[in-house]
Amino acid sequence: MKVIIGGAGITGLAVGAYLEKKEIDYKIFERSDNISNSTTAIQLASNCRFVLRELNLLDDIKQLSIEQSSLNVYSEDRHITNISVTNSSKEGTLFIRRKDLLSTIASLIPTDKISYSSTIENISSTEHSVDVGINNKQLRSDLFVGSLGQQSLAPSDLTKTNTIACWGISNTNESIFQEFNNFLFSGLNLVTYPLTYDQTAFTLVFDSTKHQVPINEITLEVLNLITKNKFISLFDSSAPLITKHIYTSKKNTWGSKRIINIGDAAHTLTPHLAQGGAQGLIDAAFLNLNINNENIHDCFYKRNQLLNTLRSEANANKFRYQLGQPFKLLRNIYLKLHNPNYSWLFDSKYELKH
Ligand SMILES: Cc1cc2nc3c(=O)[nH]c(=O)nc-3n(C[C@H](O)[C@H](O)[C@H](O)COP(=O)(O)OP(=O)(O)OC[C@H]3O[C@@H](n4cnc5c(N)ncnc54)[C@H](O)[C@@H]3O)c2cc1C
Repeated sequence: MKVIIGGAGITGLAVGAYLEKKEIDYKIFERSDNISNSTTAIQLASNCRFVLRELNLLDDIKQLSIEQSSLNVYSEDRHITNISVTNSSKEGTLFIRRKDLLSTIASLIPTDKISYSSTIENISSTEHSVDVGINNKQLRSDLFVGSLGQQSLAPSDLTKTNTIACWGISNTNESIFQEFNNFLFSGLNLVTYPLTYDQTAFTLVFDSTKHQVPINEITLEVLNLITKNKFISLFDSSAPLITKHIYTSKKNTWGSKRIINIGDAAHTLTPHLAQGGAQGLIDAAFLNLNINNENIHDCFYKRNQLLNTLRSEANANKFRYQLGQPFKLLRNIYLKLHNPNYSWLFDSKYELKH
């Protein structure tokens, strides 16, 4: 079997690493000229730990990560509750720089198996093979794995939300930032987590209808302003921000015939549950299990229930995290009395855990 993988993001690289192990003939085509040099970081939730273990990467990833077993929830700067983020094996969330995650997965893939500066221009499939146009040349394979991210989705499958996200890495090492935190404000929430070398990663997510700042005018000063100057030490020692409008997909689009889409190309989620990268890794593991199945799309339909639940839970979190008065008071009381239990998520593998 010959496989073409489109895109060398988290998902495409993980597929390559599995196929390398299986000794299946494959090649990855990536339009940029290198593995992403992203200056952001990522949370690897405990439900995707099994993928790192299957790829024998867990020890390497752990060396580059900080692990936490619970999330502190604050309303503004008042502590409300602690939510467990462990799975039933007591494994927590790992926090890692994206470039470290990508280069660790890529270390399993021989360099001649990734072709950079290679743009996939068109894909057409019959029941038996697929033709892929790359840099004006046509290549044929038995399977095309589309891990091209959300930009590859048809506009009708994407929804632009009113959310803007800002990512950064800061040099602050204040003790509060040595933990995993979610600070809830009206119309925005700020997630912070520790990284190795005493750095702190943050993601500030805000509702652009409530905090009306044009995306190209968001500076660290603006973040101080909208968080009421409560995080000056965090923002003032941060590297330049990355800012982005957030999209979500309407449904899961697994492809057809000899094309299988996975990762963000199949299901773009908003960041309010921090599961997009984790689910891309899990898709890669699931593809590895089912790659020889003629009805590969039917296999992936089994993932729909979990992904649909994640999509609606992320949307609900967006609403819950950013409530204003008087509803935020009720939310805080609810959180204090009823500690949310996410074992349905952190113990899930490919499907929803009932
Ligand atoms: C604010 C925010 C915070 C997040 N935080 C987390 C988190 O903490 N934990 C988590 O699990 N997830 C998180 N996510 C989600 C996560 O970043 C994504 O789900 C994940 O990066 C998707 O990986 P992917 O490989 O599927 O797609 P991508 O990372 O988009 O990779 C696609 C690749 O395909 C390449 N490509 C695209 N088009 C072409 C083409 N035509 N030809 C060739 N190559 C092409 C691109 O250059 C890219 O390298 C977050 C997302 C956001 C927006």
